[in-house]
Amino acid sequence: MSEVKAYGAADSKADLKEIKIERRAIKPRDVKIKITYCGVCHSDIHTVRNDWGGSKYPVVPGHEIIGKVLEIGNEVENVKVGDTVGVGCMVDSCRECEPCKNDLEQFCEKGMVGTYNGKDKHLGGHTYGGYSEEVVVDNYYVLRVPKNLDENAVAPLLCAGITTFSPLNHWKVSKGDKVGVIGLGGLGHMGIKFAHAMGAHVVMITTSPDKADDAKRLGADEVLISKDADAMKKHANSFDFLLNTVPVGHDINPYISLLKIDATMCMVGAVEPLEAVHGGSLIMGRKNVAGSLIGGIKETQEMLDFCGEHNIVSDIEMIDMNTINEAYERVVNGDVKYRFVIDMESLRN
Ligand SMILES: [Zn+2]
Ligand SMILES: [Zn+2]
Repeated sequence: MSEVKAYGAADSKADLKEIKIERRAIKPRDVKIKITYCGVCHSDIHTVRNDWGGSKYPVVPGHEIIGKVLEIGNEVENVKVGDTVGVGCMVDSCRECEPCKNDLEQFCEKGMVGTYNGKDKHLGGHTYGGYSEEVVVDNYYVLRVPKNLDENAVAPLLCAGITTFSPLNHWKVSKGDKVGVIGLGGLGHMGIKFAHAMGAHVVMITTSPDKADDAKRLGADEVLISKDADAMKKHANSFDFLLNTVPVGHDINPYISLLKIDATMCMVGAVEPLEAVHGGSLIMGRKNVAGSLIGGIKETQEMLDFCGEHNIVSDIEMIDMNTINEAYERVVNGDVKYRFVIDMESLRN
């Protein structure tokens, strides 16, 4: 075992501050990673503040991890010492259940092991995430990062990236499809980039007209202001797919009316009750409302490779570890374009 510096919260009301945590000694299939960058996801904040219940303290958040391989176990073949690698939202799963066998470890029937706040099989207690100097992860959950991409801006791909790529990929968004991305934040900005790269006609759907220029810069072909009833009417029954990234419960009925017959709106943001759906709006047009959670390990690697081919990274703002508490306030207020990434050197100094 080794002791490393980390940033953690002692309870749901506490600020994050420097603490010491243990990392296990590497086993034959383990990879020891020196963390260089870690993205700041809204889930980090929800977990620190126990918004979803079940948080175990101290919470050391961070599941958008980029780093360099320091050491590998003798059975590891997919990465070597010195490689740049990524770790996303999970560090283990049972690998035996149907979802695991079908590359859907995020839906493991025994529960995937979260990168933080998961059950630590090795040391007991709970897992600690990427706001730390180093992490030890089973090689199966370690991803290769394309060399042509900026490492710091790759970090958010491990959560925000795969969360938006997976549904676009699963529902086979392709050239010429009309795709709406609802909400322009950490998730939405990645949704626009991916849908654009897949060849779709991308419509940014937002309540704020002031986001239009940025949406177009990111790859949107059009911007639809959802409060504009006339504009919404013009787009009725015209979308092949909608990616709904709004992070809170809301009324999804107006969006359902935008879908074509048989088309799907996939929810990826709001992990809480939505306002009631009018059955008629689904029945009239055989429409679908679905959900999606990150992606499996195989698909996460495909997403990173796709990003390498299409030169896609996240738009980020770099911060030092000791400014994380201010950064959290800004995330909560939607004041970041579009993802904070922590320079983990700032924790070592
Ligand atoms: Zn996340
Ligand atoms: Zn499983």
